[in-house]
Amino acid sequence: MPFSTLGLSPLFNASLLENGFTTPTPIQHKVIPLVLENKDIIALAQTGSGKTASFVLPLLHTLSNAPKTRAPNILVLTPTRELAVQVAQAFSLFGSALSQPPRVVSIIGGEGLGEQMRLVQQGCDVVVATPGRLLEILQKGQISLYHVKTLVLDEADKMLSLGFSEALESLLHALPSARQNLLFSASYPPSMETLARTISDNFLWVNQ
Ligand code: AMP
Repeated sequence: MPFSTLGLSPLFNASLLENGFTTPTPIQHKVIPLVLENKDIIALAQTGSGKTASFVLPLLHTLSNAPKTRAPNILVLTPTRELAVQVAQAFSLFGSALSQPPRVVSIIGGEGLGEQMRLVQQGCDVVVATPGRLLEILQKGQISLYHVKTLVLDEADKMLSLGFSEALESLLHALPSARQNLLFSASYPPSMETLARTISDNFLWVNQ
């Protein structure tokens, strides 16, 4: 079944084809319509499953119909800088198909804090961040998470195993409680169950 049956804007058709995305992967097939319906999801998905596009495409679709704000609408948290960069690239790649391409900022450790704060201050639609660095910028009062409509935790189990649970907890307090929550994880240990319970009571489960 082609991507066009999943409810995504036809604006994405050309860039999907250009990037070799002819058929949705099973996770994309299940996740994309639910994200478009604003559902909260826990998706058990491995790297290589196509999980990134399963949230990037529908969130871009929704963003393209939303009023522009200076502060980010979409917040993606990742355990590593490398993953943050990959996810940010996917938002930029598919977002370039939109009439107003999204302003995407990566907030990651080990790179210029000042430059990242400057980009946030200029206004952005999507922030892809590692938890520690985002918390640092939040505590300096340099970012508002007040407009976040969707929170994505990518590779959530890895975030917990790398010791980010406290940072995550602090970040969750800074988000509006009315928001969509998407949690992607390769495994579901008890610590994840505890985290998931603090995030939403309405998760739908998706398996690869
Ligand atoms: P991910 O699991 O999101 O890291 O994706 C793994 C790789 O598969 C990436 O290089 C994607 O660009 C690619 N990919 C994801 N979905 C599709 C698709 N539907 N068709 C072809 N390639 C895809």
